[in-house]
Amino acid sequence: TADVPGSRGSGTAEVPGAGGAAGPPGPSGPAGSVGQAVGTVAAIVRRVVGRMAKQERQVLGLTVGVPGLVGTDGTVLVAPNLGWRDADLAGDLAKALRDPGFPVQVDNDANLAALAEHRFGAQAGTADLVYLTGEIGVGAGVILDGRLRRGGRGYGGEIGHIQLDPLGPECRCGRTGCLEAVAGIGAVLRHAPLSPAEVEVELEEVVRLARAGDPETLALLSGVGRQLGKGVSVVTNLLNPQVVILGGYYVPLAPWLLPAVEEETRGRTIAPDGGGCRVVASTLGYDAAALGGAARVLDSVDSGRLPRVS
Ligand code: BGC
Ligand code: ZN
Repeated sequence: TADVPGSRGSGTAEVPGAGGAAGPPGPSGPAGSVGQAVGTVAAIVRRVVGRMAKQERQVLGLTVGVPGLVGTDGTVLVAPNLGWRDADLAGDLAKALRDPGFPVQVDNDANLAALAEHRFGAQAGTADLVYLTGEIGVGAGVILDGRLRRGGRGYGGEIGHIQLDPLGPECRCGRTGCLEAVAGIGAVLRHAPLSPAEVEVELEEVVRLARAGDPETLALLSGVGRQLGKGVSVVTNLLNPQVVILGGYYVPLAPWLLPAVEEETRGRTIAPDGGGCRVVASTLGYDAAALGGAARVLDSVDSGRLPRVS
């Protein structure tokens, strides 16, 4: 598997179900260039393909999960926290691999995670679910009537950039007071985006303080939970899902976020009891997007959209 810096969502479909073995964070941190990411991913792909060939096994394809808007044509319109715009990742990867036929798909990280939750997670099979991830940014994957919904051009699910407070902090998308700016991991850690590995270390410290009952940490987490609840209430009012799954960095923080999220969601949803929506933490953790990536490759092969490599 390969992580685009700042994202967690890529998977080769060599071994379905094991596609989530998290790769190391990209060397360049969250703001690495497209070229650097392509180089890193291509190197990993070459290594995996070589290793598999020795075992007389084949790589069926690669899905790259990106923390940004991926169009129905597979190009990345914008990835706000990476500073990427109009990137043809699949094309660049095929060039870097010197193999125009190498089966590469590109998708939004939260979409992939939602697919995985719907198929493999504790809520598998739930017809209407929304996966809401707290990564460096905040994003969502929407499953309705059992199908991932991407919207007309593929840019749906961008809950992280719903404006909660016009006078709020700047968001990396260039606007102010977006959900991601007030309830993303930056609001918990209170400094510039870090690499995924660094965020995990810092998060452990927050969890330690919360467990110890540190009043400042508890107040911070309940404040972030309330903001997140505003975002969840947009989802419950608009879509009335059976479940909203909090993923990414929200998972380790869930015990302290959830009470505030639930209270805020219920208070802001016009249907009684939040429309019956449960808010739960993901059980797939950081591997969700990678698992979804592997699932996409297998689906594409099954439906004949990707050739079988031999
Ligand atoms: C991006 C989304 C992404 C989310 C989580 C947001 O900043 O706009 O596309 O899903 O971060 O990585
Ligand atoms: Zn924004």
